[in-house]
Amino acid sequence: MSDVASLPRLRPANCQLPVSWYFDPEIFAREKKLLFDAGSGYVGHELMVPNVGDYQTLAAAKEAGAVTINYGAFLNLVLDFLIVALAVFLLVRAVERMKKQEAPAEPTTKKCNECLSEIPKAARRCAFCTSPAPA
Ligand SMILES: [Zn+2]
Repeated sequence: MSDVASLPRLRPANCQLPVSWYFDPEIFAREKKLLFDAGSGYVGHELMVPNVGDYQTLAAAKEAGAVTINYGAFLNLVLDFLIVALAVFLLVRAVERMKKQEAPAEPTTKKCNECLSEIPKAARRCAFCTSPAPA
């Protein structure tokens, strides 16, 4: 919270209207007469006046049966699609990376060259055909 009143560059006002003037209905009526009766009342700029066929909302245009090009809704759908596609892409990529990081376990068996059976890696002879096991 700023303390503007304590800034040294601010001085107390020398000429200030009495506070009662701000709440006096007679002065308020005189101000309104002086300000607003002198000239034409300003309502708005000419460009703010809608043309024939302009609608304030899309629902009003559809209700009136006007042909609309809803490019805003289309862009919204495209943006939603891109966001979902990016999320799915990142998810699939993360899953693929997790799959690659799983290194295959060290094999504890080897194949016999003669009978193609699985024998322990440390075996010197095949348990099925008794042939010397490959190194
Ligand atoms: Zn064998």
